[in-house]
Amino acid sequence: MSLAPPPPSKENGYAAIPLPLPNQLPPPLRPFQKLPKKPRALEILTRLKLMYPAAPCSLDYESPMQLMVATMLAAQCTDARVNKVTPALFGRFPDAAAFAAAELTELEERVRSTGFYRNKAKNIQAAARKIIADFGGQVPSTLADLTTLPGVARKTANVVLAHAFDIHEGVTVDTHVKRISGLLGLTKQTEPVKIEQDLMKLLPQADWENWSIRLVYHGRAICVARSPKCLQCDLLDICPGAAKIRAEAAKVAKFKTAKAEAAKAKTAKVKTAKAKKRFTKPLGTV
Ligand code: SF4
Repeated sequence: MSLAPPPPSKENGYAAIPLPLPNQLPPPLRPFQKLPKKPRALEILTRLKLMYPAAPCSLDYESPMQLMVATMLAAQCTDARVNKVTPALFGRFPDAAAFAAAELTELEERVRSTGFYRNKAKNIQAAARKIIADFGGQVPSTLADLTTLPGVARKTANVVLAHAFDIHEGVTVDTHVKRISGLLGLTKQTEPVKIEQDLMKLLPQADWENWSIRLVYHGRAICVARSPKCLQCDLLDICPGAAKIRAEAAKVAKFKTAKAEAAKAKTAKVKTAKAKKRFTKPLGTV
């Protein structure tokens, strides 16, 4: 199995890791470090920053309104697909006023390929109308106000606040964040709101949003849902969720060492036998 990381790409956000990391050994050979939860969370954060140096939002936008709309469209859809739809959408409807005045059928048609398009179009238009009516045409910058908008729940609000306003009021919990935070032993909860509470207690506030982005990158590049590439993962020695993989890697390493030692012993035995034979040849023979 190759230990090389996947090639960097915009999609997986993966950067060449400046290996070797802390203990100078590749991941499968590092001994497991049983760290308490908080130091483990901070160590993971430090390593994630090395693995994924840049953590920009992967949605394309030029204003808080565009980010809000793109985030709403990204529900049950890939960011790449949303980024294909939004240039024409934002060209046609550049701000809240344009979305508020849009023909619903046209809006539906323009967001159709992102899935659940009727619901998404209806919510975008209703949110835009409320922004015009209650917030002077500007996307509000508090969690409380944002979550009053139709179709804007805590997750969308956290993304908008962090990237459009640099305000960190929570951790965005999507499927990658939920799954990997559990594997890393940082939460036992299954509900996003409770997972978010656990993570907020463990991580510095300024890192709440970039934690989510980096875990999404990690979930795409290494900790893939169906087959995590633990032997390539720089979190292997501190990840409680990879205990089975570590045990298997240790078993393979032990087997290889035993095999190499047996081969060495066999070679030595053959050499000794040959030497003995030569030494015991009768004098005068050639
Ligand atoms: S060690 Fe394995 S389970 Fe743990 S974060 Fe890395 S890839 Fe995921």
